[in-house]
Amino acid sequence: SEILLSVNDLKTYFPVKKGLLGKSGEVIKAVDGVSFQLKKGETLGLVGESGCGKSTTGRSIMRLIEPTGGTIHFEGQEITAMPERRFRSFRKKMQIVFQDPYASLNPRMTVQGALEEALSVREPKLSSANRREQVQELLQLVGLNPQFAARYPHEFSGGQRQRIGIARALAVQPALVVADEPVSALDVSIQAQIVNLLQDLQEQLGLSYLFISHDLGVVRHISDRIAVMYLGRIVEIADKKDLFTGPLHPYTQALMSAVPKANPFRRKERIVLGGDVPSPSRVPAGCSFHTRCPHSTEICRTVRPVPSQIQPRHFVACHLYETEGMKIIENRAH
Ligand code: SF4
Ligand code: MG
Repeated sequence: SEILLSVNDLKTYFPVKKGLLGKSGEVIKAVDGVSFQLKKGETLGLVGESGCGKSTTGRSIMRLIEPTGGTIHFEGQEITAMPERRFRSFRKKMQIVFQDPYASLNPRMTVQGALEEALSVREPKLSSANRREQVQELLQLVGLNPQFAARYPHEFSGGQRQRIGIARALAVQPALVVADEPVSALDVSIQAQIVNLLQDLQEQLGLSYLFISHDLGVVRHISDRIAVMYLGRIVEIADKKDLFTGPLHPYTQALMSAVPKANPFRRKERIVLGGDVPSPSRVPAGCSFHTRCPHSTEICRTVRPVPSQIQPRHFVACHLYETEGMKIIENRAH
């Protein structure tokens, strides 16, 4: 089916401020060569530990942060070089849902006001009767009582606020929703409700999702495909089923081994990685995971692995798979 979004070698670097931790001239490579495609109606889960560049990737695609390299095609148009004026019509088609909707809602504005504001981005000349009607429809769409329109954000629970955040994103009729840890702040029971809501809305409206989460369990539920990020790069990307039944990258395997629910590593021991994630201003040379990888060899310290295609839709960036194809790491380790 149709490609909505095509991201190619996306880079977002930030200069390190002088006089702070780093020497001047150092850069933080928050996103360092990310490539993927997203089809219409598809959900790509983007997982990794905090600080790996997931959020920056999401924001760079929407140009909420300007990328420093690479290209982004949205509906076939290259948007990174597009002048702001022309980009505006594309920006409306990409909306973001945040982890903490409360922080992004104006506490002095009713739900009616917040949703009307969003509606006016799409249709500035809407009559007030029309606006009221659309606000009611939006609230119903996200499973909230339309009478809640008169209330203020503080009158709602976390789950209800997230529904309002979703309604606000949908008011603009986007094609792409970047959901950045949308359920991470919610109770587990509420998490499932919001994830189910997002899935229903996707079916109804044909939305594409970039679903960002540190929680592989949540990502597993909603994603069609999953990309695993480590220090600004995608180290593995595959259909959900293939990633869960046969994770290839040692980092993916470690993440999986920590997921409590059914997965092929459940019966095996948890893989505990040594050390912390290095600072993105000091990304290790070669494979950036080599400082923590249980399978690291000499080449890993000097040569950066490029993504290899293992199956038609399964890519992994690791030297273990470059020369001998489907080498099973477990065999190598024993
Ligand atoms: Fe580990 Fe080397 Fe593969 Fe990197 S390239 S994940 S260090 S085996
Ligand atoms: Mg984040």
